[in-house]
Amino acid sequence: MTKIKSIRTRVWNWKGPTVPPEGNFCTNASDALWDKGDAMASFRFHQWLTVEVETDDGTIGIGNAALAPTVVKKAIDDWYAPMVIGEDPFDYAYIWDKMYRRSHAWGRKGIGMTAISAIDLAIWDLMGKLTNKPVFKLLGGRTKEKIPTYYSKLYAGSVESMQAEAEEAMKHGYQGFKTRFGFGPKDGMKGMRENLKRVEALREVLGYDVDLMLECYMGWNLDYAKRMLPKLAKYEPRWLEEPVIADDVNGYAELNAMGIIPISGGEHEFSIMGCQQLLEKKAVSVLQYDTNRVGGITAAQKINAIAEAYQIPVIPHAGQMHNYHLTMANVNCPIAEYFPVHDIEVGNELFYYIFEGDPDAVDGYIDLDDNTPGLGITISDKHLHNFDIVE
Ligand SMILES: [Mg+2]
Repeated sequence: MTKIKSIRTRVWNWKGPTVPPEGNFCTNASDALWDKGDAMASFRFHQWLTVEVETDDGTIGIGNAALAPTVVKKAIDDWYAPMVIGEDPFDYAYIWDKMYRRSHAWGRKGIGMTAISAIDLAIWDLMGKLTNKPVFKLLGGRTKEKIPTYYSKLYAGSVESMQAEAEEAMKHGYQGFKTRFGFGPKDGMKGMRENLKRVEALREVLGYDVDLMLECYMGWNLDYAKRMLPKLAKYEPRWLEEPVIADDVNGYAELNAMGIIPISGGEHEFSIMGCQQLLEKKAVSVLQYDTNRVGGITAAQKINAIAEAYQIPVIPHAGQMHNYHLTMANVNCPIAEYFPVHDIEVGNELFYYIFEGDPDAVDGYIDLDDNTPGLGITISDKHLHNFDIVE
């Protein structure tokens, strides 16, 4: 029997060049505070946590977390690692519940569940490597020849710049395109018109044969969203994402019940029961948990089963290998989010600089290799000069 011998955590602080944010490039939950200056600052993250779980035969599984990496590192080092070391990685369900129950008072949402997710991802990577199988083969195998993707960027900017970006992206065969709103409640009617103008401009370029997804990133409120839904309907959006803060589950349910535009969300929800509530209340028409927050692959598979029973498609938040393996292995995961590789902006892009192995989309699709064991990523040494790394 193989046992877990050690857990190594490293925070990667990006010190390389970044793209300076433009005003109003994405609404967010802090907008309600009328904060002066750059309200989006708290949502940019130029840090990442890697978690390496090593077994006594020297095999290393890789997990990661992008939410408050320094705090998650502390939670793993002080709390979770000691209860995982010595366990057999194939007892993953036991390990998951041990972590969950022993930190239940403080850890079942937020930092604790993010730490559990990171360790769980590493354990799945380990199980793949130890059995010489890609993770998706352990989860049910190939349910699709390859994975369709949607282009996820189009931050709010000038109409011209957004149209130019869409025109360029169109050439690559994506099945859908997601844009971010730049204006919310505090910007009044004028901001509403600015939002609508950009959606209309994007449809002008994209036409109506591809999906257009609209992202609010929790920067609206219920009243504003109720007024916007009818105005947006004529552009036939595939979904409206996170219109209100994650805790306002009733708000999601009310908007979804209007039946005008499918409401999506869940990337800031945690664990099996958190997602079950979204489904039971019919709060979302598309569930978008983030595997490295929701509880890792162990929790994600349970949530997938529940969502399938409700016939709600699951499209995990973000690109990245852990999500692609789940998408490949689940019929109910029809498409994957894809962050096109580009300079460091919000922080999603850091993944491409820390890891190697993530597939590039080709003609709008990504594929996974049947013969690469585990998640198929390695920690890269190509960009080390651009990071300060804290062990
Ligand atoms: Mg989102």
